[in-house]
Amino acid sequence: MYVSAKVDKEKCIGCKLCIFACPEPNVFEFVKADKKVEVNASRCKGCGLCVTVCPKDALSIGI
Ligand code: SF4
Ligand code: SF4
Repeated sequence: MYVSAKVDKEKCIGCKLCIFACPEPNVFEFVKADKKVEVNASRCKGCGLCVTVCPKDALSIGI
C-alpha cells in the first residue's frame, strides 16, 4: 500500500495551486461541478509538495 495525497473537500476552495505544484501528470482533477479538486491516488507519488502549497490546509498524505 502506497501513501497518496487526500483532499478534505470541506476545506478546498478550488484555487488549483496544488495542480500547478504537483510534478506528476494528471494526478489532480478539477471538478467543475463543485469547484474542488480530486486526487487520482494511483498516480500520486506521495511526495508531499501539494501539501506545502495549499493555502487552506486541505491536503494531507496518507494511506
Ligand atoms: S503528493 Fe506529490 S505526487 Fe502526490 S498529488 Fe501531491 S504533489 Fe502530486
Ligand atoms: S491547493 Fe488546496 S485549496 Fe487549492 S485547489 Fe488544491 S486542495 Fe484545494
